Amino acid sequence: MAKKTQKLVTKNQIFRALGLTAKMKGANCGEEWFADSKDYLTSVNPTNGEVLARIEQASSRDYDKVMKKARAAFLVWRQLPAPHRGEIVRQIGEALRAKKDMLGALVSLEMGKIYTEGLGEVQEMIDICDFAVGLSRNLSGPTLQSERPKHRMMEQWHPLGVVGVISAFNFPVAVWAWNTALAWVCGDSALWKPSSKTPLCAIACQNIANEVFKANGLPAGVSCVTIGRGATIGEKLVNDVNIPLVSATGSTRMGKRIGGIVGERLGRTILELGGNNAIIISEKADLTGALASAFFGAVGTAGQRCTSTRRLIIQEKVYDTFVKKLIANYKRVAIGNPLDSKTLMGPLIDEGAVADYENAIKAAKQQGGKVLYGGKVLKPFGAATFVQPTIIAIENKAQIVQDETFAPILYVMKYKKIDQAFKLHNDVPQGLSSAIYTDSVNEGEAFLSFLGSDCGIANINIGTSGAEIGGAFGGEKDTGGGRESGSDSWKLYMRRQTNTINWGGEVHLAQGVEFKA
Ligand code: NAD
Repeated sequence: MAKKTQKLVTKNQIFRALGLTAKMKGANCGEEWFADSKDYLTSVNPTNGEVLARIEQASSRDYDKVMKKARAAFLVWRQLPAPHRGEIVRQIGEALRAKKDMLGALVSLEMGKIYTEGLGEVQEMIDICDFAVGLSRNLSGPTLQSERPKHRMMEQWHPLGVVGVISAFNFPVAVWAWNTALAWVCGDSALWKPSSKTPLCAIACQNIANEVFKANGLPAGVSCVTIGRGATIGEKLVNDVNIPLVSATGSTRMGKRIGGIVGERLGRTILELGGNNAIIISEKADLTGALASAFFGAVGTAGQRCTSTRRLIIQEKVYDTFVKKLIANYKRVAIGNPLDSKTLMGPLIDEGAVADYENAIKAAKQQGGKVLYGGKVLKPFGAATFVQPTIIAIENKAQIVQDETFAPILYVMKYKKIDQAFKLHNDVPQGLSSAIYTDSVNEGEAFLSFLGSDCGIANINIGTSGAEIGGAFGGEKDTGGGRESGSDSWKLYMRRQTNTINWGGEVHLAQGVEFKA
């Protein structure tokens, strides 16, 4: 256990800095917070079970009010030149810089990831704001060669409308920023439904954005939040024809449902769903680097990242040495209060997640797995939300290995030949993040080729966990196929238009068609 020696930031300090109180309401579009549901949600500190705040959830009527504002705001916001919208996002990035410490601490307090990771998450928000500012001057389409004489063709991009953002508990602030920073420079307004497990993070983000929009005299509604039940607010958002794009981050089960509903109404989705990420460790690898990456990937964020390393596929010659070193690292993991700088692993989000962890270990044993380290639930502060990071030797085909368990359980397995490693690697339903550790150019290139990883993210000599905002982020298969954040992901937040302009006067039909009376 991590020893409590440093003076930890307090809940009151965090609340004061971010405009939070013990009782709040769950709907906002830039002015006062409101809600009339009389249906309350409690925000709980996963470290010790303390109730942090009570929030009155948004009702269906509240949702309608918010949506009205979001639609009206879109009509005004889209008229601002994109670089002016970028300037607002730049100011939001500055406001996040000013509050980085406290917002990072709130992420640790409410979600349970360690403070350095909480700060990292806020840094991601700042980075995507910077990225979006540059993008606001470069939302460009190509000019294309027309087959008709004295004609010009081009593509341009227009704002899309109100973008719906549904986020998971494990990235309670960054996913919002990944989506909204892009949506805003693209000229869209955004309506966020955060996870009910992390409502305070959402309120704090909205408060930060509100100050900037207000200081610039912009209409309320460009940034909106409704905190409420998935079954009411979530379903309403997904079914709402006023939302042309729903960006949803969460479990594959949730994504299948949302994808179906939005698809039915021919809306657009960005689905960012579960992963089952593996690192292949070749006998030709730098094992020290592989060890550091596997350790962070599997234990970091207590295994609660979509990109967490869940499987290690290790060449049989280095398997024993590698697993032995990994276990030695696991024994040194300081488990405790995520706000304590000595802690390496905080709690799981709630007791339900701990039950999933226990059930997965039980199933793994029944399916031929052998626990090499861990497997126990811990209660350092009373609440049964802490677990030991766990390593299990098991075959890839075991059903439990095929499923994503959102907990620090790492499955290890052996391979003989690299082709077999690739096969094992791809033989899961999900396709998010992947990595190979090898110093062989041929093995590395093969892994990145069409014969190699089938994931949206494939790395050489770095792990699966933790992506930079500059690249497009997302995965294939049961991960949902969505891409957000960097590269050209912005295109999903806009409406594409192809234009043909006749500047010669004479009418020419395409494909040489003659049509004269
Ligand atoms: P979850 O699926 O339980 O919930 C995610 C969000 O969906 C929440 O806001 C929830 O309220 C909402 N929701 C659930 N049902 C809904 C419905 N019918 N209509 C509308 N909204 C609904 O996921 P979670 O436990 O919060 O997060 C963990 C999961 O998220 C893991 O599977 C993880 O891999 C995944 N995740 C994926 C990514 C990615 O980018 N691929 C990132 C983070 C988390």
